[in-house]
Amino acid sequence: MNAQELLKNAQALQDEIQANRRELHRHPELGLDMVFTKAFVVEKLKEMGYEPADCGEGGVVVTVGGKKGGKCFLIRGDMDALPVDEESGVEYASQTPGKMHACGHDTHTAMMLGAAKLLKAMEDELEGTVKLMFQPGEETLQGAVAMVEAGVLENPHVDAAMMIHSSTGLPIPKGMFLVMEGGYGSASCDQYKITVQGKGGHGAMPHLSIDPVTAAAHIHVALAELHSRELESTTFGVVTTGMVRAGVAPNVIADTVEMEGTIRTGDEKVEEMLMRRVREIAENVAKAYRCEATVEYTKHCPPMIADDIVAAPAVGYMKEMFGEAVLPMSRLLGGNKIGGGSEDVAFVSSKVPATSLGFSMSPANSPYPQHHPKAVFEDDVIHRGSAAYAYVAARWLEDHK
Ligand SMILES: [Zn+2]
Ligand SMILES: [Zn+2]
Repeated sequence: MNAQELLKNAQALQDEIQANRRELHRHPELGLDMVFTKAFVVEKLKEMGYEPADCGEGGVVVTVGGKKGGKCFLIRGDMDALPVDEESGVEYASQTPGKMHACGHDTHTAMMLGAAKLLKAMEDELEGTVKLMFQPGEETLQGAVAMVEAGVLENPHVDAAMMIHSSTGLPIPKGMFLVMEGGYGSASCDQYKITVQGKGGHGAMPHLSIDPVTAAAHIHVALAELHSRELESTTFGVVTTGMVRAGVAPNVIADTVEMEGTIRTGDEKVEEMLMRRVREIAENVAKAYRCEATVEYTKHCPPMIADDIVAAPAVGYMKEMFGEAVLPMSRLLGGNKIGGGSEDVAFVSSKVPATSLGFSMSPANSPYPQHHPKAVFEDDVIHRGSAAYAYVAARWLEDHK
């Protein structure tokens, strides 16, 4: 398979991929609620000769190739938007107030549709099967786990997987790719809610009350010390309490305090340890101040760690196609191996070897990062994403038949 030929074929689809992307951008949808998006994707896939299948709530799967036997490679594109009011000023801006494709998942969906077309055109040559996973609910960490539970990794069994995430505001030029080396990845995320129960009362008579604010303050300080006292200095682990709610009036001792936050790390053992310690600290510090604390974990996403079985060859394939426009993730992360954000494709990568690519869709250091209401993903380079999806999948199958 010739990388430059495939890239040229992708270039020829530029207008179509861009038009699809803009239509999706006008109609953002949240979480698992993908009524417009799913119908759009299904119709486009059917036009190309696919038979799209539902997978979990809001998810769509198709396969292509397999005529020569071989392994199965999964490519994943997420489809959901964010509850953000768009202020980008682009002519194809969101038509739904309060919803915006501010993370660029519209570009992923359109790139995947472009890849679907490229792969269909070379179906007879594929040395295996490519499975295309159109996923809802990434921002809410619901979509990938739902599709995994609905069987996306079986029939046929998936041997390796790859995803692409577009970006804005990074210090790299537009059209450039970031490639993950084995061992690199994104953080786990566990969201906690601590409820500290005291006994409310009159602000003038604390001795008749049990003040949960004092207990919560000590819990907060103890949690902030976890990293420096209980983890090795080079281990990545962050505990952040981002929300604290208590009280109704300055002269009333609160009855309860709610503290909500997230734990992030790149290692499942550290994740387990931090989750256990947050619980122990909250419960026991509360007790020391005569309160009761309960700890609930409300959301979970494992770390996504790139596996060299697919990451190392993917770096090579990307260089075959894009030459110098490919930068190893390590160059951007400094000494770290784990980026702080989380990615729910981790539910896939914790089951099968996987890797992740970054794709810059803005000039270097453009002012607005993704999730910002003014973020703009410039789609004049979007066909490169489709080419990358199709080529990495096809080349990996060729090398692993
Ligand atoms: Zn996002
Ligand atoms: Zn995203």
